[in-house]
Amino acid sequence: MHVAVLGAGYAGLGVTRRLEDALPPSVDITLVNDGPEHVLTHEVHRAIRRPAVADAITVPLAEVLDRATLVTDPVADLDAEAGVVETTAGQTLSYDYGALCFGSETAYYGIEGLRDHAHPLKTLDDAAAIREDALATIERGGDLVVGGAGLSGVQVAGELAALAREENAAVPEDVSITLVEQLETVAPNFPANFRRAVHDALVERGVDVRTETTVERVDDDAVYTDGGASTDGGDHRDGDDHADGESHADDGRLTYDTLVWTGGIAGRAPTEGERPVVRADLRLTDRTLALGDAARVVDTDGEAVPASASAAIREAKTAATNLERLVESDDDGFRPRLDRYRFDVPGWLVSVGDGAVAQLGPTVLTGAAAKAAKTTVGAGYLTTVGAIRQARDLAEAELAE
Ligand SMILES: Cc1cc2nc3c(=O)[nH]c(=O)nc-3n(C[C@H](O)[C@H](O)[C@H](O)COP(=O)(O)OP(=O)(O)OC[C@H]3O[C@@H](n4cnc5c(N)ncnc54)[C@H](O)[C@@H]3O)c2cc1C
Repeated sequence: MHVAVLGAGYAGLGVTRRLEDALPPSVDITLVNDGPEHVLTHEVHRAIRRPAVADAITVPLAEVLDRATLVTDPVADLDAEAGVVETTAGQTLSYDYGALCFGSETAYYGIEGLRDHAHPLKTLDDAAAIREDALATIERGGDLVVGGAGLSGVQVAGELAALAREENAAVPEDVSITLVEQLETVAPNFPANFRRAVHDALVERGVDVRTETTVERVDDDAVYTDGGASTDGGDHRDGDDHADGESHADDGRLTYDTLVWTGGIAGRAPTEGERPVVRADLRLTDRTLALGDAARVVDTDGEAVPASASAAIREAKTAATNLERLVESDDDGFRPRLDRYRFDVPGWLVSVGDGAVAQLGPTVLTGAAAKAAKTTVGAGYLTTVGAIRQARDLAEAELAE
């Protein structure tokens, strides 16, 4: 019997570590990842301002796996019905039961010029490229634009504002940071008090938040939007003058020197860019589950689960239980009763530069309490995956700010 887990992010590593404990030694487990490391994707924006954080959020998989065989080669092709995987190096793996956990790509929605001109932010390499470009913009004075105000976009805008300040640039006089969002609010899928606190934290740091603003086209110099609303108290639609006397925004045209796009996610190549829908038992086919960003999970209440590390970590528990039951059912011949995932997280936490916003139950915290909560959760997660050194380093890096 062979169980394969495809992707070693929050979802895949969580499933694999549970199966290592739960399945009998006679069952082989393979973890296929496109590299030898587990990276805390939800912290990669920190590396824009603090490159040294990269080390604390990178966990060599070999150090935290017990008996699973690790294949460090991307999945190129997948037959989820038959249970057959092909890697880019041409290796073919067959599995009896499997879990598809390879996360997501940046979605560009076919917006003209966007893919060619914007930085995505998914990996530490992306963060390094954004840092280099943003530092050059900050040094000469210019415009930084972030498209998409979900969890990643709000945190990127916060980091860029803090980076500009650390480089002694005044925001928005020397350097403008504009966060563009198509929907009515920042962090649109999250509770109202959290959205408000995140919005206020960004505006306090000089970020120009433009909601109800749709990016329509991008060229070498500008992002063309449908106009939209500035929610930071000012109305910049007629143009705001910078030190160089040039207008940054005019009739929905936003000039940029550095552009980061965090406006959405799409499936990866092995699922042809799709994120397949799975119901609460996470079953994609008879033998394959799908979870984390790689799938659109509809939970046991019929609610769409937000793509998030918080959800991926919790879905991994349901997936591991269900894979264990499927393996057992192969022996006893009964159709297994599968667990169903209900989306339930204690709250949400984001960093906004060197500050943070935490929503814990009905309460929203900012300042030192929110930072402490964020540090505890990040380091706590690393501890649960056995990355003790990284947990200590992350806590030290966060508390040093
Ligand atoms: C900047 C940023 C900030 C964020 N902030 C938050 C936050 O504050 N809170 C929150 O809950 N969520 C946050 N998120 C979202 C969160 O990071 C994702 O929802 C989460 O990473 C999804 O987990 P996953 O395991 O499905 O995928 P991932 O964590 O992306 O892991 C996928 C794994 O699969 C591997 N892989 C990719 N392609 C292949 C392939 N072809 N073959 C094999 N392996 C492959 C990848 O290398 C990776 O190891 C943030 C995301 C970003 C980018």
